[in-house]
Amino acid sequence: MEKVIAPVLYAPRKIRAETFPTPSPGEREALVRMLGAAICGTDKHVFQEGEIRLGLPGDVVSLPIILGHENLAVIEKIGKRAAGEMVTEGQPLEEGERVVVSADIVCRECYYCKNFYGYPWCLNHRSYGDVISCKDPPHLFGGYAEKMFVLPGTFIFRVPKRMSDAAAVLTEQMAVAYGAFGRAFQNPNSKEGYSPSDTVVVQGVGPLGMCNVLMAKMLGASKIIAIDRSEFRLRLAKRLAGARTINLDDYPKQEERVDAVMHMTDGIGADTVVECTGFPGIVPEGLDLMRNGGTYLVEGAYAEDKPTTISPSRQILAKNARIIGVSGMPYQAYARALTMMDSFSSTIPFEKLVTHVFGQEEAQEAVETSMGMDSMKVVVGRMKA
Ligand SMILES: [Zn+2]
Ligand SMILES: [Zn+2]
Repeated sequence: MEKVIAPVLYAPRKIRAETFPTPSPGEREALVRMLGAAICGTDKHVFQEGEIRLGLPGDVVSLPIILGHENLAVIEKIGKRAAGEMVTEGQPLEEGERVVVSADIVCRECYYCKNFYGYPWCLNHRSYGDVISCKDPPHLFGGYAEKMFVLPGTFIFRVPKRMSDAAAVLTEQMAVAYGAFGRAFQNPNSKEGYSPSDTVVVQGVGPLGMCNVLMAKMLGASKIIAIDRSEFRLRLAKRLAGARTINLDDYPKQEERVDAVMHMTDGIGADTVVECTGFPGIVPEGLDLMRNGGTYLVEGAYAEDKPTTISPSRQILAKNARIIGVSGMPYQAYARALTMMDSFSSTIPFEKLVTHVFGQEEAQEAVETSMGMDSMKVVVGRMKA
C-alpha cells in the first residue's frame, strides 16, 4: 500500500519524518492531499513546549503529534455522506476540488454548541494539528503530512478558482481576524466597538498580526499603526496596508510607544487595539494604547505564560474598556474570509505574506524559520510560494 510521509513532533523541538499507511475514508470521512499547511503561532508554542495547554481549557496537546491546522488541500477521497455534511454552502463536495479544511471539530451537542455562534467555546472541541495526537490510527490528523484524514463533523470550504494557493493558505488566520473584528462591531455611529474609519493599533505583526492589519484595511480603518521589532515585518505592513510603524528598537520603553501612538492619534489613543504578540505580558501596554471607551482584541496570548499586572481601576473601569478575548474563530468565518480575500485580490497582494515553503522532510527547518524575525508565513507542503 502507498505510504504517506508525515513529520512527527515526538519531543519538544524534535521533528522527524515518518511514514504511515494510506487510510481509506468511510461514508462520513474524507482524505485530502495537502497543498500546504501554514505554520501558526500555536505550532511554534507546541514545537517548543510539547505537551502544553492551549486556548480552551480542554485543549491539552499530547505527543506524538503531526502539526498543521491551517490547511489547504485537494480532496482525494470523500465519503458519500461526508460530501454533503462537510460543505456549508452549494453542491456536495467532489473529489479533486481545492479546499480549506476547518481547523476544529465541534460536538454540536454541548451547551455552547447549542447556544452560541460558531465554535470557539465547544466543551468537547478537538482540533487538527495540535489537540489530536497521531498515536492512534489512522494517524494523519495534521496538515504537515502529505495527506490528512478528515473526521466526521469537520467543515470544508471551497477555494475560489482564481485565488492563488499562497492567498488561500492564509484563510484560517484571516478567519481569526474576521471573527475578532466581527465581535468588535457595534452600531458604528456610537463609536463603541470597531467602526469603519477607526484608528487601529496592531501589537506584533507576525502572520496573525498581518492578517489583522489586512482585515482592518479591508474593513475601512482610517489609520493602521503596526508595532514590532522586525523591520522586515513593519516594511511589509507599510507596503501592503499603508501602516504607520513603530519599531521597538527605536522606542524601547513602553512609555515611548504609548507617547508615539498618542501623537499619531491626536492625543486620543487608538479606537481599537489588537494584541497579536503571543506574549501575555504585553496586555497592559495595549490597554494604555487604547482610547477611553475603546476596544481591545486579545488574540495572540494563546499559550499560558507568567501572570501579568494590570490596573483594573485605571485601565479597565476608568477607561470603560471593551476587552474581547479571541481563542479561535466561528467556523462561518472561513467562507467569509475567503470571499473577502477574493474580492480584494486586485488591490491587496495577499500572497506576499507567504515567504517560505518547505517540503514535509524539512518540517523542522520550516518551524525554526517561522520563529525567526525575517519570515512571515512559512508553509509546509508541496505548493509554490
Ligand atoms: Zn492558526
Ligand atoms: Zn460542543
